[in-house]
Amino acid sequence: MKNLAIAGGSPVRTAAFTGRRTMGEEEKRAVCEVMDSDNLSAFFGSPGDQWLGGPRVKEFERKWAERYGFKHAISVNSWTTGLMTAVGAVGIGPGDEVIVSPYTMSASATAILFYGGIPVFADVDPNTFNISAETIAARITPRTRAIMVVHIFGQAADMDPILEIARKHNLKVIEDAAQAPGVHYKGRPVGAIGDVGGFSLNYHKHIHTGEGGVLVTNDDKTALRCQLIRNHAENLAETYGMDDLTNMIGSNYRLTELQAAIGSVQLDRLGGYLEHRNRLAQHLSAKLAKIPGLTPPHITEGSEHAYYVYPIKYDASVTGIPRALFVKAVNAELPTPQSAEQVGLAPAYVRPLYLAQLYQKKIAIGSKGFPWTVNADVDYNYAKGLCPTAERMHEHEMLMTTLVREPLTEADLDDFVAAIEKVLRHKDELQGLA
Ligand SMILES: *Cc1c(COP(=O)(O)O)cnc(C)c1O
Repeated sequence: MKNLAIAGGSPVRTAAFTGRRTMGEEEKRAVCEVMDSDNLSAFFGSPGDQWLGGPRVKEFERKWAERYGFKHAISVNSWTTGLMTAVGAVGIGPGDEVIVSPYTMSASATAILFYGGIPVFADVDPNTFNISAETIAARITPRTRAIMVVHIFGQAADMDPILEIARKHNLKVIEDAAQAPGVHYKGRPVGAIGDVGGFSLNYHKHIHTGEGGVLVTNDDKTALRCQLIRNHAENLAETYGMDDLTNMIGSNYRLTELQAAIGSVQLDRLGGYLEHRNRLAQHLSAKLAKIPGLTPPHITEGSEHAYYVYPIKYDASVTGIPRALFVKAVNAELPTPQSAEQVGLAPAYVRPLYLAQLYQKKIAIGSKGFPWTVNADVDYNYAKGLCPTAERMHEHEMLMTTLVREPLTEADLDDFVAAIEKVLRHKDELQGLA
């Protein structure tokens, strides 16, 4: 009789991990008030009171800015469009190089391409999975204009040395803090430590409005530029005194009153979620730290973590079990997930972005190779091997769990650890399985 569930034994746990429940009575009430007002979006794309949106949009932005101490918060209809707005606002144009992580959601890099900028990928740090001053420095050229820092998985990147490099080379700093709302770096809230940045409000993030995003900045002019790009800048730039016409073709990235009303309620939940996740993470890390071959997240002094996901480094040469088989065997010990948030263990995160066809073939805007053709004398390298740490994490070392989240408890994570320990204890039973 075998012990491991994957080999026919009984699993550690069959009762489902409780799913997330994100919407409560307060959100319902807020939405109904907007319905009763009959005004689902009060934006106008022309000069006047309403070019900055309706009462709920303004209240939501004010609340976000005050809660975390930003001078400006500007809502948008997704964080993908928020990133595009940020890239436009700092003045990126055709042929400008922007240094970015390859180990992130694809939009961190495509936002650069939408303005004709060229993503230049810097490798990640093997402990934090964030780009660092060292990896950034190696990619700076005379064409570099900006750095896009991603606070991946929710941990603040080491910003001070990055800001120092940026100052030295006169570079703008954009922060993709999609996974790190409410996180601080040395006491400062991430998002606006550089020039501009912000957060995602899609369904899977800590708090959400279905789809949505929030830009934050402490610079008045950058804020105005973001507000203009969000809402048909071409109609408004003159009236509102924008003397620099760079990228002042706007779009419609406006959040609705319904979403803003939900967002204001959700914002009150964020602090509690972060506390909850940090408490669970501490509990889990203490246990995983005792298991050879598994490394819990490395917490850099001064860098808070939001645990959007909880990353674990895996060393198959220590455990003696290939990563894919380990994942399968551990998950077999746990209840079958009904949603992404109930998955015990998942491998890899994302493939380094430059390995996508878009970069391999250099076809982005139109079919003739723009924007890379702007710098025809430069042969941009997106070959395999470009960022060896990111590739190694993807191919071999990264494991993640989404169980470090509300409303799960320490007891739930004890079952998760028990599943891991059981698989390691009976690894001989994995012989011949794959
Ligand atoms: C979620 C996410 C985005 C995109 O946000 P959307 O609101 O889904 O458009 C961008 N960057 C990172 C790192 C993300 O996690």
